[in-house]
Amino acid sequence: MESIFNSKQEFIECYRSQIMAITGKDFEHASDFDRFNALARLIASRARTVQTATDNRVAKSGKKRVYYFSIEFLIGRLLDNYLLNFGARDLVCQGLRDLGADLDDLCDLEPDPALGNGGLGRLAACLLDSMAHEGIAGYGNGMRYRYGLFKQEILDGRQVETTDEWLASGYPWEVRRQDKAVTIGFGGRVVGYEDGGRMYYRTEDTQDVLAVPYDIPVVGYGGKTVNKLRVWSTEPLEEHFDLDAFNRGSYAEADAHRADAEAISAILYPNDAGEHGRLLRLKQEYLFVAAGISTILDTFRLEHGRAWSELPDFVAIHTNDTHPAMCGPELMRILIDEERLGWDEAWSIVTKTLSYTNHTILPEALETWSIGTFSKLLPRLYQIIEEIARRWQDDFDKSRTGWQDLLRNTAILWDGQVRMANLSVICSHSVNGVAKIHTDILEHTVLKDFYALMPDKFNNKTNGISHRRFLAESNPGYARLITEVIGDAWLDDASQLARLTEFESDPSFLERAARVKRENKARLARYMAAEHAISIDPNTIFDVQVKRFHSYKRQLLNIFKIMDIYNRRISDPNFAVAPTTFIFSGKAASSYAFAKETIRLINSVADVINADARVNEIMRVCFIPDFRVSNAQLIYPAAEISEQISTAGMEASGTSNMKLMMNGAITLGTLDGANIEIVNLAGADSEMIFGLTAEEVEELREKGTYFAWDMYNADRARLGRVIDELTDDTFSALSGNFESIRNEVMQSNDANLVMKDFGSYVDAWERLTATYADPMSWNRRSVHNTATSGWFSSDRTIREYRDEIWHA
Ligand SMILES: *Cc1c(COP(=O)(O)O)cnc(C)c1O
Repeated sequence: MESIFNSKQEFIECYRSQIMAITGKDFEHASDFDRFNALARLIASRARTVQTATDNRVAKSGKKRVYYFSIEFLIGRLLDNYLLNFGARDLVCQGLRDLGADLDDLCDLEPDPALGNGGLGRLAACLLDSMAHEGIAGYGNGMRYRYGLFKQEILDGRQVETTDEWLASGYPWEVRRQDKAVTIGFGGRVVGYEDGGRMYYRTEDTQDVLAVPYDIPVVGYGGKTVNKLRVWSTEPLEEHFDLDAFNRGSYAEADAHRADAEAISAILYPNDAGEHGRLLRLKQEYLFVAAGISTILDTFRLEHGRAWSELPDFVAIHTNDTHPAMCGPELMRILIDEERLGWDEAWSIVTKTLSYTNHTILPEALETWSIGTFSKLLPRLYQIIEEIARRWQDDFDKSRTGWQDLLRNTAILWDGQVRMANLSVICSHSVNGVAKIHTDILEHTVLKDFYALMPDKFNNKTNGISHRRFLAESNPGYARLITEVIGDAWLDDASQLARLTEFESDPSFLERAARVKRENKARLARYMAAEHAISIDPNTIFDVQVKRFHSYKRQLLNIFKIMDIYNRRISDPNFAVAPTTFIFSGKAASSYAFAKETIRLINSVADVINADARVNEIMRVCFIPDFRVSNAQLIYPAAEISEQISTAGMEASGTSNMKLMMNGAITLGTLDGANIEIVNLAGADSEMIFGLTAEEVEELREKGTYFAWDMYNADRARLGRVIDELTDDTFSALSGNFESIRNEVMQSNDANLVMKDFGSYVDAWERLTATYADPMSWNRRSVHNTATSGWFSSDRTIREYRDEIWHA
């Protein structure tokens, strides 16, 4: 472990002068925020020193550089994490204590950048952490949204969105790299010209904006490697301030140019509903792709001249989902138009350099753009896409039986649309899914035609999570206990967690693990009391479902279960219910009406149950507002039941399932996504699986014999009652009934099979919670989950990417 401070004394001196330099105040007069800010800036500057050394080492050794393109990086707070990774946490903590400050309090002042929606963005952040740990020269490339995603508040049970001004007090980790700014052109017209007997193309009369990068250091555990995340912000190219307009009193008009440019990096769009086809989104996608590729090629030219055929030896570009799909055509454009390579040579370079991760099999989530919109905004890029599409078609093996279908399904341009997934597959040498079942489904459904043509391109890379952030940092009590019995090598190598199996039947270890869980529950209860004035009882089971709201994730199934348990308890006070706090958290896309209604239903049910003296000793429903990485880190360690109840076949992988498993929660879930790997690792006895399998779902859909009304009629007493309560004023006091939810399940025939899985789900919950009465057995399963979770470290995931895709 390299240390960034030689001694506590050195730290204190540096820190004091840092505060003085930034604020002009001494430590004693600085505010808490000043103190946080100065500490973060101090660590950031140390990180940048190591980053420069890392970069020189990479340049000298000619190591391959990996660029990870993602429109989201949900990085979370960095201060605590970087102190841990630098091995400086204890020293800094003691230094601060000497000065009279508390590290945890300062860490709590850090803004939590909402530069992602959920799983996809968090995966990108975990992979960056692991690249730095594994010593891979890996760089994130993304967008710096001024407002990130919205902040969520709950009013009368409803989600209310407000702007998240995470940059308002400045962001201490970033440095603005004006010197690396890139001009990006939109629109205009393509002009051909001849030179030396060949036609070349350039675009004229474009509307230009300036893409300005901000670099954030990525500190690897051990402190030897510091990589960086580069995020792009947009600004007007020149000051087009209109003085005439200003003097006329038209102030907004005077500054319109600036507003147009800045709008591109103003907000992050939701990834799951209703925002398809937004022109600004397309601009964002092109901007971070074009700016990112431009820096990559600058570095390559500097280090390797113009030996373009060697690009794939020194550079790998990975595209996280289809949002960076323009990497292929943009790289072609530069190699052909600017570097003047021939098509075939350029194409070979591009396809050897690019790789692609698919994240979804929901057909409605596959990204497409209308050709009209696309070709107007990016005329030259569109020509290149047309040429890629034409060659794909011309080169197609038309001797294959059924080639017409294969060609139709794999075409890039179809029905007036540019299909970004097909573009990504065709431009890449590798296509991967994110859990075993997901990759299987890709190969046999959404991308089956590609799989038939090029099976070798396909591979699986089951997601992972940073076990340092989500176990060591989030759950310090458990981490200490683990380290006490197996040493601290697990921080470096998560497979070491397997050594905990030795302690699974050690009563004193189990009891101490249970005590830590209890403290984590109390910590979450304190957070809820302090932030939201909501009281929850750490003596009850914490049953947790925290994730984006989406119909396929079936928060609806969970709240139906709660309504049913409540109904039965009210009808029969002898009905035994294990005392439980049902915890929900998560945002819904602002345009996703069904998801928002589900949030309102949960809060409305909570309002009734929590006020009902007949049950509120044994049942409480708690919605934690504004789910984000920082409160996620409080929730996961407090969880005992991990609700992973998506309709089988719909959740690509999930990663909260892994975080919760690692923190000792027992999975109550369907055989979907990485839940399957969880059961394989921990064994079926340590989780509780219920419901239809993906094959059964598939079969049911094919047969067309499922009718929601049959479910209703077959179980009038329980399921029927729950459905009726959606509209009979049982839960309407806060803000009305839930007709649209009732219609969704009954009239639209319950697309996500909530009613079909209801019986087996409630039954599984009852069986699982009944075992809570035997703490030894519960704690053994809990520790066993942690002991078998090491494989889910993103260190393992990233080694697979490195060895099997990037060959770095
Ligand atoms: C891990 C994580 C997610 C992903 O949760 P899933 O249940 O896998 O969808 C979403 N948001 C945050 C803040 C996370 O940390």
